[in-house]
Amino acid sequence: MAVMSDEEKILLAHPHLLVKQDRCDLCGVCPKYCPTKALNIDFASGRLLVSQEKCMACYVCVIVCDRGALEILWTYESYTPSP
Ligand code: SF4
Ligand code: SF4
Repeated sequence: MAVMSDEEKILLAHPHLLVKQDRCDLCGVCPKYCPTKALNIDFASGRLLVSQEKCMACYVCVIVCDRGALEILWTYESYTPSP
């Protein structure tokens, strides 16, 4: 997503939702609140799975998780549109 611009350059920001699996107890709260259905619990592997392409970095899951198991990491890319 483009978050900042000036006359010549656009800064593209790419979110990545990090799951700290050792903190997650698979309580099931965050998948219920995710507006894009990006979160799913895989009980077979005992892990919370993230579809990164569906995540729009709204931070709802980060807020509702009372175990601090979720964090959004950002990387930035400078992009210069062709004239
Ligand atoms: S709310 Fe937190 S503890 Fe519960 S499933 Fe989501 S990440 Fe895991
Ligand atoms: S940040 Fe928002 S869209 Fe992304 S996984 Fe969490 S609740 Fe879903």
